[in-house]
Amino acid sequence: MNWPATERLSLAPAPGGLALVQELLNTASADPADPADLLADGALGAAQEWADRAVRSWAGETGRGDVRLVLTAEDLPKLRCLREQLRRALAACDEGGGAVRFTSAPVVVALCGDGALTVEPEGAGARWLASAVLAEGLLAQATGVWRRLKICRNAGCAAAFYDRSRNNSGVWHSVRGCGNAAHLRACRERRRVRD
Ligand SMILES: [Zn+2]
Repeated sequence: MNWPATERLSLAPAPGGLALVQELLNTASADPADPADLLADGALGAAQEWADRAVRSWAGETGRGDVRLVLTAEDLPKLRCLREQLRRALAACDEGGGAVRFTSAPVVVALCGDGALTVEPEGAGARWLASAVLAEGLLAQATGVWRRLKICRNAGCAAAFYDRSRNNSGVWHSVRGCGNAAHLRACRERRRVRD
């Protein structure tokens, strides 16, 4: 599978279709060495290239056939808005915040011949992606892994990572990077108070 936005941060993708949610969040770069916003206005080509790869991976990961998402220039601000709403929702989750409704999207729930139920995204462009991302969030919530998708606590970073720690206690996208920087800051602060 190929998750370009998440992989450029050297992060492991979330399992299954949930990686699509992480992928959208990581289109806003957290890495100062690679600051490109993959959904920036005026860069429709880069956004489409990202969408092609991400949606192909999502289709492969979830056992779907060929899915093609076509983006227009009008989709880009909508996708950035969706990304921001997701980020705020996950941060509220992390802080134990109250229930705030950020966004909504229609999906189709289908009953298949073999008795299985599927949730299919609806619409086109940004609406389709919102539908796919919220459906994956719902499925992840049902299986208990939604709370493992997190935003790095370093406000200047905000990379989306999947917490694989046993007790789901991770708060940094990288313990050696953002975690270490916070640790050093706290040490300096303690020393300052003591001296
Ligand atoms: Zn970080």
